[in-house]
Amino acid sequence: MSDKYDVIVIGAGPAGYHAAIRCAQLGMSTACIDKSLNEDGDPVLGGTCLNWGCIPSKALLDISHKFAEAQHGLPDVGVKTGKVSIDVARMMEKKTEVVKKLTGGIPQLFKGNGVTSLPGTGKLLAARQVEYTPHEGKAKVLQAEHVIIAAGSVPVDIPPAPVDGKHIVDSTGALSFDSVPKRLGVIGAGIIGLELGSVWNRLGSEVVLLEALDEFLPMADERIGKDAMKIFQKQGLDIRLGCRVTGAEVKNRKVQVAYKDKDGEQTLEFDKLIVAVGRRPYTEGLLSPDSGVNLDERGYLYVNDLCATDAPNVYAVGDVVRGPMLAHKGMEEGIMVAERIAGQKPLVNYETVPSVIYTHPEVAWVGQTEQQLKASGEAYNVGTFPFSVNGRALAANDTDGMVKILADADSDRILGVHVLGPQASELIAQAVIAMEFDASAEDLGLTMFAHPTLSEAVHEAALGVAGHAIHMVNRKKKK
Ligand code: FAD
Ligand code: AMP
Repeated sequence: MSDKYDVIVIGAGPAGYHAAIRCAQLGMSTACIDKSLNEDGDPVLGGTCLNWGCIPSKALLDISHKFAEAQHGLPDVGVKTGKVSIDVARMMEKKTEVVKKLTGGIPQLFKGNGVTSLPGTGKLLAARQVEYTPHEGKAKVLQAEHVIIAAGSVPVDIPPAPVDGKHIVDSTGALSFDSVPKRLGVIGAGIIGLELGSVWNRLGSEVVLLEALDEFLPMADERIGKDAMKIFQKQGLDIRLGCRVTGAEVKNRKVQVAYKDKDGEQTLEFDKLIVAVGRRPYTEGLLSPDSGVNLDERGYLYVNDLCATDAPNVYAVGDVVRGPMLAHKGMEEGIMVAERIAGQKPLVNYETVPSVIYTHPEVAWVGQTEQQLKASGEAYNVGTFPFSVNGRALAANDTDGMVKILADADSDRILGVHVLGPQASELIAQAVIAMEFDASAEDLGLTMFAHPTLSEAVHEAALGVAGHAIHMVNRKKKK
């Protein structure tokens, strides 16, 4: 092991491993330190996303969706099945296989690109020195020309609901239940709470989501949020807004939850409780006092638009810095920093970061919401198109939701796209590309889409901005 590198990356989650691979591709000697261990106690790369986040949650969402389809969807279209049941142990094994396949690929990518993998803990000292402590063995000081910190985030815990890993769990625990809880409580109806609540609801749990805010999904477009809430409630999710959890106690293997709503103190009993109240940047033990890196007022590593910290040649990317805590946002930052170190001039376009909730139907959006445009006083036009009249959605018996496009009233530039519907996570990519190239709604309307596809709903919503959608009667008729 060398003591000197062009670049040392701390953290091998999506932000860190993208940065490390790109640095090595650009010819820099690169080491990446990561301290994560898997359930067997072995070092593992990929961070939260691959091990305890995006990937395992999507594995459980896809499996539980297949189960729900077999139970409720297939009989409706004439496909007869026998009694449908879930083998939770096999489902979890499958999830682990998917995780292992992906995390096992990163060491190969590191090797193929020439990144030195250093399992253990990294701590930034002064003058771009990094203290590296392997899992077994003595600490050593390494020197780098540039350091990229990608230490990620961890779940927020709240004093009223202390996680015990058995009855009261965080998102990691909720990805590994060994049976379907009869009654499941979820604190927080944000993205993670909705996804995990949906998994267990589909498999048979009675799920209650307790959300402190009075509004459902305030970051989403209001109309889309309202429609999504109705659909999720129809699926059986008991979503209670304006409910602040004040206590949770395990008694006789049940969790007694106390919360306050507009009528006063309430209590509920669950078999399991998931605490999904957000994530916080993970900075414990990361910086020596003389590292030169500062935190912002919310505890994130302070960086500028180019992800540079206050210390020269030290950068930070991903969940440990401001901005949405999303894997793809960190990946783009990691690549941008690597290329900037190599003298190139890329930028991250923070206006086109897509957000997705992988429920069914999915919710996905990019850009501004209608309530944001109203608040800013910007004049805009709206085009919407429901999946209920989209041929492909009807053929697939999957018709909930709509596409909504917001465009500037003068220039017609697309300002925001919101999708509630099947495969919204894939459809939103079209909107991101359009916005990245500064497209107008007319540009999208003039583009040819294959028929019959779900994408045609995006096309029709774009035509609808100017009042000439074909497969619905336009409220605002224009020539
Ligand atoms: P992380 O993935 O957290 O990785 C940081 C790594 O750094 C970890 O391995 C950590 O051990 C290591 N580390 C930290 N400190 C040190 C140190 N001092 N020394 C050595 N190593 C260190 N995002 C999406 O975009 N799409 C989704 O569908 C999605 N689903 C999610 C579902 C769940 C249940 C959760 C919890 C999160 C989900 N996310 C999703 C969020 C996503 O996982 C994070 O945004 C992403 O993992 C952040 O990447 P990162 O590289 O910044 O940090
Ligand atoms: P997110 O930030 O998307 O992960 O969502 C977390 C959600 O948890 C937010 O909508 C918070 O309002 C909610 N939340 C935080 N603390 C509490 C609490 N004590 N009781 C109920 N909901 C909470």
